[in-house]
Amino acid sequence: MELRLYDTYSRELRPFEPLQPGKVGLYCCGPTVYNYAHIGNLRTYIFEDVLRRALQFNGYAVHHVVNITDVGHLVSDADTGEDKMEAGSRRTGKTAWEIAALYTEAFQSDLRQLNILEPHVWCRATDHIAEQIEMIRCIEAKGYTYRTADGIYFDSSRLSEYGYLARLDKEGLAAGARVETGDKRNPTDFALWKFSPPDVTRQMEWESPWGVGFPGWHIECSAMSVKYLGPLFDIHCGGKDHIPVHHTNEIAQTEACHGTRLANFWLHGYFLQTDQAKMAKSAGEFLRMQTLIDRGYDPLAYRYLCLTAHYRSDLNFSWDSLDGAVTTLERLRTLVHGWPDGGSPLPEHVERFTAPVNDDLNTPRALAVVWDLVKSDLDAARKKATLLHVDELLGLGLGTWAPVEESIPAAVTVLVAARQAAREARNWAEADAARDELHGLGYEVEDTPVGPQVKRRRSAPADF
Ligand code: AMP
Ligand code: ZN
Repeated sequence: MELRLYDTYSRELRPFEPLQPGKVGLYCCGPTVYNYAHIGNLRTYIFEDVLRRALQFNGYAVHHVVNITDVGHLVSDADTGEDKMEAGSRRTGKTAWEIAALYTEAFQSDLRQLNILEPHVWCRATDHIAEQIEMIRCIEAKGYTYRTADGIYFDSSRLSEYGYLARLDKEGLAAGARVETGDKRNPTDFALWKFSPPDVTRQMEWESPWGVGFPGWHIECSAMSVKYLGPLFDIHCGGKDHIPVHHTNEIAQTEACHGTRLANFWLHGYFLQTDQAKMAKSAGEFLRMQTLIDRGYDPLAYRYLCLTAHYRSDLNFSWDSLDGAVTTLERLRTLVHGWPDGGSPLPEHVERFTAPVNDDLNTPRALAVVWDLVKSDLDAARKKATLLHVDELLGLGLGTWAPVEESIPAAVTVLVAARQAAREARNWAEADAARDELHGLGYEVEDTPVGPQVKRRRSAPADF
């Protein structure tokens, strides 16, 4: 069955054809490790994981590369302001190197909790300074650079195709010129190498043919993707915010040096939004995976929630929708767990599931197929085998899940009994007080026909 993907570069759904038979090179822009990832960032990595799994589901051997931005990403995308890593260092009192290690580890742990497959290559920008310098030299030799007081810049006016990915209106930008250009010749020019400020010793700086400094943000992705996947590889991904600046500039650098558009397909994930606004790390307070876990949510419920939306539409986050995902996932897991093993997948249903997946990763429609199958009166063992097979794509861990018998602390058991006794005595005030105490301990009680059932409480915070 043909796999079709939406390519931002050509703005169309295209049948996917690998550049080399059977193999796919996949590069995904990784995190800037100056803080924890927020759950919006994680939505993008879930989308990329579904893409990788879909390629594997279609029989391709995927080589997956993810970078770690640990230097050079400035507070403003216009190459001004402090380096986010150095700012993070000031915020936390740790060195830039320490925070890079800390947040890289936290990010990788988030991915594991979300059942995101480990990339084959993790590459850190600071481990590839020589490759970045080499690429800047190549761009310089081809005549696309100029020097200002603070760095070496890419002259975007030299490249006729500059901005094609984003369909940038270059003339409009130049005429408006509301963008702070500083010493730049054109508003869309960007730094390849920044000099360390004369009066400051940066924690992260290197010698270069142009002077001591550090690489611009975009060069790392061009240099490292070329190193691990070659100057033209299959698929490059990121969030949609990368289209007008970061990916536009990655393409410009690679076109200047190697004459390629870097990737055959460019795929972009849309945003997770809260009711208020786009969730941004730079906005200070933000929701991260650990916030969800601390509040009693299973990370895979968040993964399920992300699968309910197509990757090319924004998803509004709400605690109600996360609660809904918890309930639905629990139901799916419980049913699958209860069905007998030993069946074989139903080919017709695998095919019905694969059709929307191969239609630009339409996971909401694929989930609808899952629920049709679950509700059908087909043989339970065969339903289970089919669902375990399609879970290779969904990544919900259906095959490994088992109900946990939680041990309830004695204090909680005592309160449940006290509440029950108060209810039987129709002493509602005392019953309510016991319930409030239970909530305080992180438990809630539900009255069922077989008596009170106690479970851990999930608590959506009031402030989001
Ligand atoms: P960063 O760590 O800021 O470089 O971002 C990591 C990834 O998350 C990038 O691919 C961004 O495009 C993506 N991203 C940033 N904000 C969001 C959001 N609210 N929803 C989905 N993806 C996002
Ligand atoms: Zn990148």
